[in-house]
Amino acid sequence: MNKIIDSLLEYNEGDWEETAEDIKMLYQIAKLKADDIMFEWICICGDNGKCPECGSDMEYRTEREDRGEYWGIPSYEDVVYTKCPNCGYED
Ligand SMILES: [Zn+2]
Repeated sequence: MNKIIDSLLEYNEGDWEETAEDIKMLYQIAKLKADDIMFEWICICGDNGKCPECGSDMEYRTEREDRGEYWGIPSYEDVVYTKCPNCGYED
């Protein structure tokens, strides 16, 4: 049997209902931790221009987007898009 489950059952003196609650709590904590790591990974990849899916260098593409008129003068905004040339991941 799994060591963690084994020790939890022992800790709960063979109480399976109590152990079920503990296991579910443990699962939630592990899931939150995994989310944290993934979020951090995506941020670090963004800072370093890397694709979080496959680790390749991201490609940058700047597009001029029409923002209508401002005091009668056409207004534009440069928007930067990133895309992975290897796996197609888009930010
Ligand atoms: Zn990629």
